[in-house]
Amino acid sequence: MSVHEVAAELRQVLVGEVREREPMARHTTFRIGGPADLYVTCDTIADLSETVRLCSQEDIEWTVVGKGSNLLVSDAGYRGAVITLGREFKAHSVQESDIKAGGACILAYIVQDAFSRGLGGLEFAVGIPGTVGGALAMNAGSSGVWMDSIVESVTLFIPGSGLERLRGSEIAWGYRMSGLPARGVIVETVLKLRQDDRARIRSEMEQSLDRRKTTQPLGKPCAGSVFTNPEGDSAGRLIEAAGLKGTRLGGARVSDIHANFIVNEGGATASDVVGLIRKIQMAVKDTHGIELTPEVRLVGEFLPA
Ligand SMILES: Cc1cc2nc3c(=O)[nH]c(=O)nc-3n(C[C@H](O)[C@H](O)[C@H](O)COP(=O)(O)OP(=O)(O)OC[C@H]3O[C@@H](n4cnc5c(N)ncnc54)[C@H](O)[C@@H]3O)c2cc1C
Repeated sequence: MSVHEVAAELRQVLVGEVREREPMARHTTFRIGGPADLYVTCDTIADLSETVRLCSQEDIEWTVVGKGSNLLVSDAGYRGAVITLGREFKAHSVQESDIKAGGACILAYIVQDAFSRGLGGLEFAVGIPGTVGGALAMNAGSSGVWMDSIVESVTLFIPGSGLERLRGSEIAWGYRMSGLPARGVIVETVLKLRQDDRARIRSEMEQSLDRRKTTQPLGKPCAGSVFTNPEGDSAGRLIEAAGLKGTRLGGARVSDIHANFIVNEGGATASDVVGLIRKIQMAVKDTHGIELTPEVRLVGEFLPA
């Protein structure tokens, strides 16, 4: 079956929407990325199951994305199906001090809801864009507190075997990685919070947002920190010390505010960003002898360095 025929077949059976040649620049916070052959919104588990089954049967690659706030998608786009979770996965509910949230739930919504109910534990996540699924896959965090600290359980959809629930303590969490099965799609989580003082939560969230306002280039298209911090140091400090703040390649620029952010100044391509990433890696290696590892996930084909 051609990709077009697969799209037609999926449209027959899915509740969610199926788009062809969908520009990924519309779905990334970098505002960069060529077309995905297929862009499938799975509204239900049945949608997800059928999409993955048909893609596997027809040898079509697939990948799952959230809000694209940690992604750099190739200018050529993605030869395969980009799967995103829709309606059934956007809800959340609260029971005592636990929050149950779907994989597509916007992280900011539950941060806000937790605050309004006087539930503490999610303050660190204020200002982190994206979905709950993306935050778990990345073990997102700030100021030394990460998602793993509040995870009671994660429910995954595993192609070929169905739903599997893992306890947070069974998952091999790491710095900006979850250790969850590579092909597993995060469909739901239960986060364990605690009753807390709303004034304290508010104050911590406000301080965190103030810090972001002064230290990050908010308002410019970007994907947050480009590199993970090497042990005992900060990527931003190393990049700044290598004299790279403000360095520009095409439409991409190392932020003047935070050297570990690359911003799209308008019309940046993925090649511009990758070129800048490689330039930074070489300069930091030359000046500090340290190899920086990208935190941003690459989607699609990129020329080897
Ligand atoms: C301005 C700005 C500030 C940021 N600040 C921070 C910060 O303070 N701390 C931090 O950690 N990050 C930060 N980020 C990065 C980013 O927001 C986080 O990594 C976020 O958690 C990614 O969520 P997402 O839904 O956008 O995921 P995406 O970028 O869409 O995907 C990221 C990865 O998660 C996987 N994924 C997404 N959803 C699922 C799912 N349901 N099941 C399985 N895998 C999935 C994708 O395959 C991909 O590998 C920032 C980004 C921006 C733009």
